[in-house]
Amino acid sequence: MRASRFHLATLKETPVDAEIISHQLMLRAGMIRRHAAGIYSWLPLGLRILRKVEQIIREEMNQAGALELLMPSFQPAELWQESGRWDQFGPELLRLKDRHHRDACIGPTHEEIVTDIFRREVNSYRQLPLNFYQIQTKFRDEIRPRFGVMRSREFIMKDAYSFDIDRDGMQRSYEIMDQAYINIFDRFGLDYRAVSADSGAIGGSTSQEFHVLADSGEDAIAFSDQGEFAANIETVEALSPAIERAAPGMEMQAVDTPGMYTIEDLANGLDVSAQQCMKTLIVEADDNGLVALVLRGDHDLNALKAEKLDGVASPLRLAQREQISASLGSDIGSIGPIGLGIKTFVDHSAAAVSDFVCGANQDDKHFVNANWGRDCEEPLTVDIRNVVDGDPSPDGSGQLKILRGIEVGHIFQLGQKYSESMQASILDEQGKGVAPFMGCYGIGVTRVVAAAIEQNHDEHGIIWPAALAPFQLAICPINYHKSEPVKLATEKLYQQCLERDLEVLLDDRALRPGVIFSDMELIGIPHRIVLSERGLAAQQFEYKGRKDDKAQELPLDELSAFLDKLYPDQCASG
Ligand code: ATP
Ligand code: MG
Repeated sequence: MRASRFHLATLKETPVDAEIISHQLMLRAGMIRRHAAGIYSWLPLGLRILRKVEQIIREEMNQAGALELLMPSFQPAELWQESGRWDQFGPELLRLKDRHHRDACIGPTHEEIVTDIFRREVNSYRQLPLNFYQIQTKFRDEIRPRFGVMRSREFIMKDAYSFDIDRDGMQRSYEIMDQAYINIFDRFGLDYRAVSADSGAIGGSTSQEFHVLADSGEDAIAFSDQGEFAANIETVEALSPAIERAAPGMEMQAVDTPGMYTIEDLANGLDVSAQQCMKTLIVEADDNGLVALVLRGDHDLNALKAEKLDGVASPLRLAQREQISASLGSDIGSIGPIGLGIKTFVDHSAAAVSDFVCGANQDDKHFVNANWGRDCEEPLTVDIRNVVDGDPSPDGSGQLKILRGIEVGHIFQLGQKYSESMQASILDEQGKGVAPFMGCYGIGVTRVVAAAIEQNHDEHGIIWPAALAPFQLAICPINYHKSEPVKLATEKLYQQCLERDLEVLLDDRALRPGVIFSDMELIGIPHRIVLSERGLAAQQFEYKGRKDDKAQELPLDELSAFLDKLYPDQCASG
């Protein structure tokens, strides 16, 4: 490809509304353009990378015996009513009416459609196991679309659905997909981890997520530093502290705390550690009332754990500030568990603290030296916090380490949830009708591209792993338009590359070398060859790998052998 004929649309300035590096670089490199919140076009450069991701996925899915098909975005409401999800799904599901006033939605996922296909096409156990997959556009009306294509409203997913006659079969299909995912993420050349996960709105039991590791990741994942344990932090049990609570010390006392609303304010203002302060959160109860959740000041609430508590509304909703002061008589910043008068759950670690600081349920007042069992009743203790670095691993081996990850894939065992509700039964060996066992397997195709950048970049731009690079090699001639020898040598090299089927970008734009170099670095091409009049006169070419600090001068007559070495699979024939 000649850069002059390729729509290279790089930007010099970092777009102000792009918060994370992958979003900035995707815009700057001219890979994507935004039309509305969470809605993007993929420009030719971006699409080349997207296609690489898709191709690897497609090859490995085919290899694993899955069959590609293509399902519609527009989905009739009837199917969602059959599965029961028309009412269960929140506003993420984009609902609409067609011109005949019939309800429909734009698919956020395809369990309903694929189950409808299955029940029409398959009637016997002999046709199983079966795994249908597609690479297709999804729509989810995300409450906060952000970070470019990382969390967009329209995005491309690879989704696969397996069907088996029994639970063992489903387990086998799941393991085949697990292995296919390992192959796929290995081939991407990304640093990733498979972790056990919550099944969320899709339902079912066993599930695993695949995370690309990156500091900017939205998810926290916990690993045992010794054992096999690895899970999304959402699901990890925090064990109760092994040591007993110390006996109370001094008398409880109310102190004035004007302007101290947060744990940080309190810890600074009263000169205590955050661990010594109680964080009291007020959430909605399932009967319109309120429930209090108390955590140690240095711990974070785990919403998934909290919304499973008896009496707490699910999904979890924090109470509004006005509602709190109206019902509890003080501002949220001064709420505490002593004399609160509503159902209160206390995290195990918080219940192990004595002589603590907490809100006194009066504006601008806190208690110090408060104690469970002395100043109030012994608390109702539960596990409602996220684990932290150094917590014991729940499998009993070693301590937990926390890393950040980007969820790029998710595999589930669905069981008979959809096949039963949608009556997709088939005949088993005895001629009896049974509902098949399903699994579903997603990869966020567009998110993979952003995650790859999040993990692989430097101050100059993107550093593509070879398998995802839009071009393998950049040829950068200096003074291509002014120097006949440079032009000749460049064209010769370009032809050689084309003959080898190399994905090469010849930067023949009439631009200063500095601009050409920085563009090639920005878009992350793994290898760069520079041809200049001075180099040619000395019978040399210049080579620089994208990760190298310095360029090297190499003999021109070794160029062909150099390409052979760089791309052993694409050696010149003959
Ligand atoms: P998340 O927790 O990030 O919202 P999810 O668990 O809802 O994702 P799944 O239903 O498991 O997502 O979808 C399969 C894959 O699709 C995810 O692993 C993720 O890579 C991708 N994905 C989901 N939502 C989005 C989105 N809004 N933008 C881009 N990719 C997405
Ligand atoms: Mg998921």
